[in-house]
Parts: sequence; structure tokens; C-alpha cells
Amino acid sequence: MENIKDPVLNRLTCAESLLWLNPGLSETKSALSKLDITEKDTQDAEARLKRFAPYIMRAFPETESAKGLIESPLTEIPEMLNRLKEEYFAPIEGRLYLKRDCDLPISGSIKARGGIYEVLKHAETLAMQAGLLKESDDYSKLADESFKKFFSQYSLQVASTGNLGLSIGVMSAALGFRTTVHMSADAREWKKALLRQKGVTVIEYPSDYSAAVEQGRKASEADPMSYFVDDENSKDLFMGYSVAAGRLKAQLDAQGITVDTEHPLFVYLPCGVGGGPGGVTFGLKNIFGDNVHVFFVEPTQAPCMLLGMASGLDNKICVQDIGLTGKTEADGLAVGRASGFVGKVMRGLLSGEATVEDGMLFDYMRSLIQSENLFAEPSACAAFAGPVALYTFDEGEEYIRTHGLESRMKNAVHIAWATGGSLVPEYEREKYKATHIIH
Ligand SMILES: *Cc1c(COP(=O)(O)O)cnc(C)c1O
Repeated sequence: MENIKDPVLNRLTCAESLLWLNPGLSETKSALSKLDITEKDTQDAEARLKRFAPYIMRAFPETESAKGLIESPLTEIPEMLNRLKEEYFAPIEGRLYLKRDCDLPISGSIKARGGIYEVLKHAETLAMQAGLLKESDDYSKLADESFKKFFSQYSLQVASTGNLGLSIGVMSAALGFRTTVHMSADAREWKKALLRQKGVTVIEYPSDYSAAVEQGRKASEADPMSYFVDDENSKDLFMGYSVAAGRLKAQLDAQGITVDTEHPLFVYLPCGVGGGPGGVTFGLKNIFGDNVHVFFVEPTQAPCMLLGMASGLDNKICVQDIGLTGKTEADGLAVGRASGFVGKVMRGLLSGEATVEDGMLFDYMRSLIQSENLFAEPSACAAFAGPVALYTFDEGEEYIRTHGLESRMKNAVHIAWATGGSLVPEYEREKYKATHIIH
């Protein structure tokens, strides 16, 4: 590893919390022009989800009020902003909002965007190939018994630390697929129980996420009727996530919030393998260009995306290679090796990354409950480490200065992307509330 130059790597190795500015960040137009995915792919995903809305409404009545759209609220959280200023010593300028994917219908996490989308796309492909479905059809018929029978010939498999398994498992089982979720050791018992209750086969591995992916992929390859959702490489997952950006734009418009040169938008996303936050970032950059500044947040023991990007080695390096454990209390973020596909896409688009110690996640979670009476799971609360890092580390000041934003930050809108939470059972919430980790 002698050839790795970025000085941040030493600090990563020491598991310090830090703010890293991405030296590869470039002008949005030029960065986007170098990619082989485009806005058109996002529009495609949007159109597909629209076709499926009548089905979703029928299969999941809780989506009726949103007409089958799986979307979450955007809520201003001024009391939480005060806490971050007063208790976390971050003199944040502008306003703070929470994007509440913790309250997404069906599976209560950001995975409801990508995971569910990929399952629907696969189902559509199979049904069309069999001559059972046309784009112009009313897709609510997919909830008929005859379709369940059709899909039950096929199986669908995924490896997961928990939340992806929940999203894919719930949707896949609802359609009628034989569904298997390969769970890594850190997956919570209640998630496994919930999936089994929906008729999903859960296979548990004593190892970490990457090993579960490998085993799942192998199991699926051995079965010609099986489809494997590949969290590490899937373009479909990524595009499903990217749809969030256009929805957010509509919410900002509805709340009278402008994003332009004078009114910068800052978005902070907890990152695991990278697909969720990466897809959202891709969508946001397409819409808001250089006026949106996106930062990922990862646990100090599992900063796989930061490591891959800063070293330039992408998925050819894992956090264990630099002596970190890859273990964290943050569900969904215990990932040692980032997606190589996403790392490459983020190279010119991502502003930077913050890392956060596990103990802080529980502090932020308690602060959010106390100040706003909102619940997001600890991993989701990693998002708050973003604005705090921007306003407490020298690198944050440097970022604001080099982008000529000093006088504009008073107009800034900061969005903490709360990536999960609503399905966490009450007794787990109580446990989280009582968790104090001192470093
Ligand atoms: C999966 C997950 C993330 C991160 O998404 P990736 O696609 O793995 O980067 C963040 N928060 C929660 C709660 C998650 O479940």
C-alpha cells in the first residue's frame, strides 16, 4: 500500500472521526458526461414505478393515500438544528431538514426505493417475456392469483445485512416469488423473524456481508430459475434509488425552497455499500448540478467508500486491509468493501465524506427524539455527523471557502437523509435509547 498517497488514509487507519474532501469533485456537467448512465435511466425507472403504482396500491393499501407512490416526507427540524449548534458545537448556517426515508412505506428504509424497484423490474421482464403483460396494461392485475402462481415458478435471492433483505423479501414474497435472503451475522433477529413470517427463506451466515453476498450469488447461479439481486454491482438498484431526487425537487418546490447559486443545497447521506446514497446523489446532481453539495457519512470502523475513493482502489481494497474491524452498531453500514461501480460514478460528483463514531449515533438519535419527537434508527442518524463535520473541521471551512460559499451559507438548506427506522420494534428502540458508548 506504499503507493497510496492521500494523507487521510493514516487517519482512517486510526479510526478517527474526520471530514474528507474529495479531490476528484469536478464541474457537474463534465463529471456526468463521463458516465455511461444518464438522466434517461432515472426517467425510465420513474416511468416503471408509475406503471406499477396501481399494483403497489392494491398489494400495499398503506400506499393508497399516495396513489401507490412509495415516498417519504421532508420535514424542517429547527429544534434539532438548535441542538446541533448548542450541544454539538456546530455553528451551522441556514436551515435543517430531515428527509424521512425512515418512514418510507412497506419497508421503513431507503432500501424501499432501490430494492423494491429491482424486484418490480424483474417481475415485469418475466411477465412480458411470457406474454402476460404489456406496458399499457393496468398493473394491478399483477396481484391476481394467476400471477402469483406464475411467479412462484421463479426464485429470487439477495444477500443483506438486514434492510435490503426486508425490502426485497417483502416485495418479492408479495408477488409470489420463492424468496431467499442470505443474512450476514450482524443482521437483527427481528428482521429475520419478520421475513420468515412473510414466507421468506432466511439463511444465516456467521460471517460478514461480503461473504454472505458471495454465498448468495453462488446459490443463485446454481438454479437456472433464480435471479440474484447484486447489491455490489446492480444498476437497477442504483436507478431505483435515483428516483428520490425528482421527488425531493417537487417537495422543495412545494415548500417554496429555492436551490440556485445563491441558495446552496447540502445533502448528507449515510453510506454502506454505496448504492443508496450513490443513486440519490446521481439523481440530485442531474437536477441541481453544482448547486447541490453531497456528503456521505460512514462509521469510523467501516469507511469502505471513503477508503476506496481516497486510495483510488475502489472495491479492490477493504477496511480490514487497513486494520479496521468493519463492525458497527449501525445497521446497513457494516460493510467492509464498497461497490466498485458506485465508487467510480461518485468520483467527480461527491463533495466529500465524514466518518462518525458509533457512540455519536445514539446521541444524535436521542437528540432527534427529544427535540423533534421523530425516530430514526442509529445508522440513519449518521447523517447528522455531516453538517456537524462541515462546521467543526477545518476541512469544512476550506470547502465553503474554495467554493465561494462564505456569504451564501446563510441561505443554505441542509438535508439530513434519515435512511431507516419505522420498522424497528419498540423494545429495540428502548434498547437504543439506553445505549451509551464512550470512546
Ligand atoms: C443500506 C442502508 C444504508 C446505506 O445504503 P447502501 O446502499 O448500502 O450504501 C444507509 N442506512 C440504512 C438504514 C440502510 O439500511
